Order: sequence, then structure tokens, then C-alpha cells
Amino acid sequence: MYVFVKEREDQKTFVPQDRIAELLESTRDPDPLWIREIIAKSLDKNRLEPEETAALLNVEDEELWQEIFEGAGTLKKRVYGNRIVLFAPLYIGNMCVNDCSYCGFRTSNKGITRKTLTMEELENEVRALVTKGHKRLIVVYGEHPMYSPEFIAKTIEKVYTTKVGNGEIRRVNVNAAPQTVEGYRIIKSVGIGTFQIFQETYHTETYRKLHPRGPKSNFAWRLYGLDRAMLAGIDDVGIGALFGLYDWKFEVMGLLYHTIHLEERFGVGPHTISFPRLKPAVNTPLSSNPPYPVSDEELKKLVAVIRLSVPYTGMILTAREPADLRDEVIKLGVSQIDAGSCIGIGSYSKRDGMLMQKSQFMLEDPRSLDEVIRELLKRGMVPSFCTACYRAGRTGEHFMEFAIPGFVKRFCTPNALFTLCEYLQDYASEETRRIGEKVINEELQKLSPAIRKKVEEGLVKIKSGERDVRF
Ligand code: SAM
Ligand code: SF4
Repeated sequence: MYVFVKEREDQKTFVPQDRIAELLESTRDPDPLWIREIIAKSLDKNRLEPEETAALLNVEDEELWQEIFEGAGTLKKRVYGNRIVLFAPLYIGNMCVNDCSYCGFRTSNKGITRKTLTMEELENEVRALVTKGHKRLIVVYGEHPMYSPEFIAKTIEKVYTTKVGNGEIRRVNVNAAPQTVEGYRIIKSVGIGTFQIFQETYHTETYRKLHPRGPKSNFAWRLYGLDRAMLAGIDDVGIGALFGLYDWKFEVMGLLYHTIHLEERFGVGPHTISFPRLKPAVNTPLSSNPPYPVSDEELKKLVAVIRLSVPYTGMILTAREPADLRDEVIKLGVSQIDAGSCIGIGSYSKRDGMLMQKSQFMLEDPRSLDEVIRELLKRGMVPSFCTACYRAGRTGEHFMEFAIPGFVKRFCTPNALFTLCEYLQDYASEETRRIGEKVINEELQKLSPAIRKKVEEGLVKIKSGERDVRF
């Protein structure tokens, strides 16, 4: 039995508060030669050390920043090629016992309507999502006794068993409160993808101020939440910080220390890193007035530094950000985005989109899935709904595409093309289909003759009605 001694509220954790402040001080005005060495180290696919990340964060010279952006872009292409994975968030319920000062769902907010989807409503939501072409979801829950591990598992099972025509959800990721090891086991048993927990802020004093009540007020319980997930056998875990609560440079350092901790303890770093910026939520003054606002330029910088610091990790950019900024930031290292998202509870099937009274905050990219896919295709990117690795049991070792030479060409690109082809056949508008076919043909030309032949065979199968073709 795992002993919870690591989650005492007053314990010393793996996020060394003073050391981070010291590093951010001692690496000020870094030598450009050193910065170039750090970029080169990262391009060789090495995870950076805290001192190196601190140095990148401390660059002042804008020309040197351009080199950092270029490095991040090159690394992204090297590891992920031009694929981008698409998903949608599905909010299951906004009941919450915590009082996070920035969140519309906080218990003291009387200005929102509380709602938990019934199983029937959940099915309607999933049907609406599948009908648009989605294959990957992240299900989101407030923290409340109603949302027990059993309830979470039951809702995920409902998602997986809802089929419409050719469509179904093939991977469900989870963003929910930290669980006990036993709780995670129950959730894992229904077959989940990534379990995400954002630490929000790695700065303990700020954390304490912003989380005054409820289980989330315990910094260490949350910080070690993904350790318990790993102990329960969930080896795809996602970390994140909510940018705007404290100094963005400190948060990037916190994410790096969290990464190093997971690597050291479990031999596997985070499957994904998220970097949401604080957005206005209904009746939540702090959310419209971030204590440490992060500008668009700073967002680009932090994305590039995270990309270079943890070359193997997936990076998630959400529709919290506006479309034009998303297009720019994607180039710097993002591997997953959501599209066609609604975060009002029940709003995929009811079409009341952004209904503020029930949603947690405002989304700034309201484009439909088809529009997002079309835009990505126009930019020469390959939208992917691939879930092959997770379904073939290739989890944890998410370094596959990163560490195994030729993996991307043999698996990722073909599977991305298969899932794109399925989307074009079943859900795309005419214009998107036309552009999509063109991109598929261009991508085929880049493959070796042997792989191209196999992919072409797979595409023929899909066009004649077969589904879920994958390597
Ligand atoms: N209740 C669970 C928790 O707190 O971990 C999971 C759901 S919570 C709604 C998911 C994430 O939303 C939080 O971890 C937080 O980072 C983010 N969030 C909360 N308020 C936000 C706001 N005003 N703007 C942007 N993101 C916000
Ligand atoms: Fe509840 Fe999560 Fe919102 Fe905090 S962030 S109030 S725990 S839903």
C-alpha cells in the first residue's frame, strides 16, 4: 500500500522555490554563445537542465529570441513532422467543492448554473461530437463527491460505447481532480488515454492564496497527483500551469522540475505539457485581471522554451487562444490542438455554444472542426486523429516517435493520413475534401516507395468503406 507521506501540506517538494529564484537571477543576461549551445543541445533531442532553461528564459536580445523560435520550429518539425493532432474537450459537470479564485466553477460563485450531464445527455453530446468527425476527447470534471472514480469511469464507458454510423470516440483523455491510487485504478480500468492535472502555479505562496478551501488547497496532494496515477499504472500523464497567476518564467521552471521528477522516479516524463493562459470567467474578477498578465509575445517565448527544454513531450494549445495567434504559436512546437470546441455543459448537442452561465471561461477560437482542418491543410499541415499507439499498447514510451529512427515515417505519417482520409470521406465539406486530397497526395510523394505502397493500399480500403485502418 502506498503511503501518502509525500502529500503532507507542509512538506518540502521537488519544486525548489528558492533554487528557481536563484537560477533566474544567476543566469541573467546570458552569453549568446551559451544560448546557441543550449539550442544545439536541444536539437540533438536532449532534455535541458534547469540552469539552461533559466538562461533561455532570461534572453533579452530580440534577435537571439528569433534564433530560439527558429530552433523550436526546427525541433518540432524534426520530432513531429507537419502533423497536428486534433481533439475536443467535453465538460461533464461543473459542481465543485474547491474555491480556486480564477475559475468560474469555484464553489463560492453563485453566478453560474450548476449542471452535471445525465447519461442520456452525455450520449447526445458524444453523438454530436462524433457526427462532426471527432475521434479524441478530453473529458473534464469539477471536483465534487458526485464525481467519484466510479462515476468518472461510467461516463468514459458511455463515451466509448456511443457509436454513430462509421464514427466513434477512440481515445478519451481525462482532466479531473487528483485521485487516490485506488481511484486511478478504477478510472484506468475503462481504458483512458492521458490523465491531466495542471498544477496551476508552482509558486507555493501564490498557490496557497488562490486555493483557500477544499482538497485543492493542499499543494503537495495535487503536485504528487500524477505520481499516484503512475503508481496505478497510468503511464501517460499530462502536466500544465495556468499562466497569468504568477511570473511565467517561474512557471516554466516549475514545469521542468516536474518533468525531471517524473523522469527520475518513473523513467517516463510527461506525455503532454499544457500552458493555458487565464481567460475571463463569469463573475470571477481575478480572471479578467490576471495578477501576472502574459502577453502574446511572452506566450510565444514560453512555448518555444518549453519545446526546447523537453523535446520529447507533446504540447497542447487550446481554443482559449484566438485563431491567428494559434496559427503562429503552433509553429513553435505545438503538437495537439482542440477544434470546434464548446465548453458550455451540454452545448455540443444544444447548440448554445458559449453559454457563459454554464461555461468555465470564454473561448477565443470559435471556428468549427471543418474550418480548423481546412486552415491547417492550407498551411501544409496534416491534421491527424490518430490513436494507434495507445490502442496498440504503445503508451508511456511516448518517446517512440521521438527516439525510434524512422518511427514517424513508418507509423505516425501513415496513421495521420489514414485518419485524415476517413475524416474527408465521412465528415468534410467539399472544399476541405478537395484540399485534403491534395495534401494526402503530396504527403504520399514524400514516403519511401515501400511505405507509400502500403499506405496507398490502406487509403483504397478506406475509400471502399473500411474504417479504423491503422499501422
Ligand atoms: N477541477 C479539476 C481541476 O481543477 O483540476 C479539473 C477541471 S478544471 C475546470 C481544468 C483546468 O481549467 C484547471 O486546471 C485550470 O488550469 C483551468 N482553468 C480554470 N479557470 C480558468 C480560467 N479562468 N481561464 C483559463 N483556464 C482556467
Ligand atoms: Fe473546481 Fe477545477 Fe475550477 Fe478549481 S479549477 S474551481 S477545482 S473546476
